[in-house]
Amino acid sequence: MSEADDDAPPPDELPFPDSLCHQCAAPPRYIRSARSIFVLCPLIPEKYPRQPVLHCPLFRPRSP
Ligand code: SF4
Repeated sequence: MSEADDDAPPPDELPFPDSLCHQCAAPPRYIRSARSIFVLCPLIPEKYPRQPVLHCPLFRPRSP
């Protein structure tokens, strides 16, 4: 299990389920607040990509 899997919310709680970030090898981190779950990307300068991410030049598929 990777580090990204440790904080990944269950599939029914994923914010913007269509986002590429959820399939990305970056790996994204999931930051929980009282009301939301934010996707933190370690590769992009702005840290929190605008969701849903449908195209990203840094996307690499996570290995199964
Ligand atoms: S590299 Fe792109 S697709 Fe991957 S987690 Fe970061 S913003 Fe999302």
